[in-house]
Amino acid sequence: MSSGPESLEDAGHLVGVPDEFQRLWTPHRMAYIQAGPEPLREECPFCEAPKFPDAERLIVARGETAYVLLNLFPYNSGHMLVCPYRHIATYDQATAEEVTEIGELTQTAMRVLREVSRCDGFNLGMNQGAVAGAGVDAHLHQHVVPRWTSDANFFPIIAKTKALPQLLGEVRDAVAHAWPR
Ligand SMILES: [Zn+2]
Repeated sequence: MSSGPESLEDAGHLVGVPDEFQRLWTPHRMAYIQAGPEPLREECPFCEAPKFPDAERLIVARGETAYVLLNLFPYNSGHMLVCPYRHIATYDQATAEEVTEIGELTQTAMRVLREVSRCDGFNLGMNQGAVAGAGVDAHLHQHVVPRWTSDANFFPIIAKTKALPQLLGEVRDAVAHAWPR
């Protein structure tokens, strides 16, 4: 890319659930993250992320049994994942405590996104197993995707590309700052 004030951040260490879309990061004259193909990993990204400082792995909030982070491959700005710390693959393996906290963190994520981004609606969901679309199928994660009336555009249909108007680091800072402590 150009040699202006922008800097390119290596996304190889960040956590995400890859899909078929490419991302077009649209802020002008700002640093962006090059989210290339999911790097080959030996270790589980959702087990690794909590070992690092929040901002380094896009972590938004930490609970007792589960935590929240931004998806490196967002469908929309603010796309979060709620994960148990424990490496379990499916929802029925979660303990009562984990189910409760995943639910509470999901509710808080919705409230924070509503406040920070004024979204109009949400998609919530868990893909269970690779056959059901889970990009990281070995470690349970709940998607929280904010939706706006105007968020659908033609890119995903014709080019398998999503236009994202905000940078991941900025989104993380805004959401983490608004998260009730
Ligand atoms: Zn794991």
